[in-house]
Amino acid sequence: MPAKHSASRAAPLLFLICAVIIGAWTVLPADAAAPPVLVVDPGHGGLDGGATAADGSPESAINLAIARRVRLLAQLFGLQVRMTREGEELDYPPEAESVHAKKVWDQKRRVALIARTEGAMLLSIHQNKYPDARPRGCQVLYAGTADSAAWAELTHANLVAALCPENRRVAAPISGDIYLMREIDCPGILVECGFLSNPQEAARLKSPDYQLELAVVLTASYLQFLSTRFQGDTG
Ligand SMILES: [Zn+2]
Repeated sequence: MPAKHSASRAAPLLFLICAVIIGAWTVLPADAAAPPVLVVDPGHGGLDGGATAADGSPESAINLAIARRVRLLAQLFGLQVRMTREGEELDYPPEAESVHAKKVWDQKRRVALIARTEGAMLLSIHQNKYPDARPRGCQVLYAGTADSAAWAELTHANLVAALCPENRRVAAPISGDIYLMREIDCPGILVECGFLSNPQEAARLKSPDYQLELAVVLTASYLQFLSTRFQGDTG
């Protein structure tokens, strides 16, 4: 059913989200002291492919494909964007010899990049996996830092309304085990876009059309959140 309806859904969805973006954009102040910087984090990468779909597709590549679309859309609207990785390969330092050392180095590198980015807003992109093939749908998790919960709740509501209306999950605080989300000082959300363990959803998550739809909703939600945040600051 999702594949059959995806093409007809895309046009009105894009129109609707563009209206939200334009509406949000008009209330953003041009003279903000520290303009927000959207730090887009495609989860995993390098030696760490993350979860895998039944056909062997790694989560890391899907995360990167969605992240690149978010960057493109955000830049089209004049937003500042940084990526925590640009490709599937990572340039590990020679002193990180073991797989574990390489993963630790990469996580610390991402935290340091975020820490030195003034006005950072972290959007980490992941895919879910479960031993049972039935679960599907998105979920937005948030860090314990200020503004994270509000940004996550808005983004989760928009994702559910636009892309997975049957979803019964809610935005939730993230486990303290996730190093990146635990170590940041800025607002941060982690989006589980869907379940790679569900074959129908895995096929959808690999589709460039659906990746674009996800990116549109994530970018629009960021803009919508910024508009409410700045409105709150000024008045
Ligand atoms: Zn992941």
